[in-house]
Amino acid sequence: MDYRVLLYYNYTTIENPELFAKEHLDFCKSIGLKGRILVAEEGINGTVSGTVEATDAYMEHMHADERFKDTWFKIDEAEGHAFRKMFVRPRKELVALNLEDDINPHELTGKYLNPKEFKEALLDEDTIVLDARNDYEYDLGHFRGAVRPDIRSFRELPEWIRQNKEKFMDKKVVTYCTGGIRCEKFSGWLLREGIEDVAQLHGGIAMYGKDPEVQGELWDGKMYVFDDRISVDINHVDKRVIGKDWFDGTPCERYINCANPECNRQILTSEENEAKHLGACCYECAASENNRYVVANNISAEERLARLAAIAPEATA
Ligand SMILES: [Zn+2]
Repeated sequence: MDYRVLLYYNYTTIENPELFAKEHLDFCKSIGLKGRILVAEEGINGTVSGTVEATDAYMEHMHADERFKDTWFKIDEAEGHAFRKMFVRPRKELVALNLEDDINPHELTGKYLNPKEFKEALLDEDTIVLDARNDYEYDLGHFRGAVRPDIRSFRELPEWIRQNKEKFMDKKVVTYCTGGIRCEKFSGWLLREGIEDVAQLHGGIAMYGKDPEVQGELWDGKMYVFDDRISVDINHVDKRVIGKDWFDGTPCERYINCANPECNRQILTSEENEAKHLGACCYECAASENNRYVVANNISAEERLARLAAIAPEATA
């Protein structure tokens, strides 16, 4: 394998994110990287792919910059690029928690747990382990016994916590996310909300899966990633499939986006069920005039009606 995927973030000050983004994009392109990088005044967050040489050059370039010299890169081996293009985008904030009053992780954040300490927390009955990701990420894979917030987007998390706060107030709370960036802010926010004992998995699930001692144990399913790979393995000890087909509940780890562009909901389903349901999460989406699956697969008008009738017989009765 001659390629790598790098996942990293760094909360650090970037004076002029727009200018930085432009120059950084030129640099990334010049060494042949592809990926998605967000920059804000509060720092940088990226996933990039490239050859071993290109990713080495990138890490060296970053570590030579005073602002990024302590950046911790999580490195995955890969067969090829995990992206089709290279983007560097200026943003107002790196992770959107929708906070009325933002958190600076340098001032307030939860205790860092290494993979071994995190595994002990998972086994501790007095600790609540909270998944700080979106519902579709949880549904593909999560730590055994972790709480699944009922949210479709990370920005809804604070509201969900406030509604369920009494469950957490007197407990030890440990949070985790993909690479750790969301927890830096989220754990700080939990502390500010008055939960006293808050910790976070340092380096995220990505590092937990690489730790030579824990080897991803107590992780079930796969980890959702925001690139062309869609998901990666974490548990190298006793892997189980926990993803369930959206339509029939059978074990499934295959993701699609709902074919209705106005919905785009991410669901797990087999190729067979995807075809039956015209690539859509529900009857309304299947029947949408803009259904991408119908166009992409050249489904005739007649066939389209037949499949719609089959998924919602009452609609045609
Ligand atoms: Zn849909």
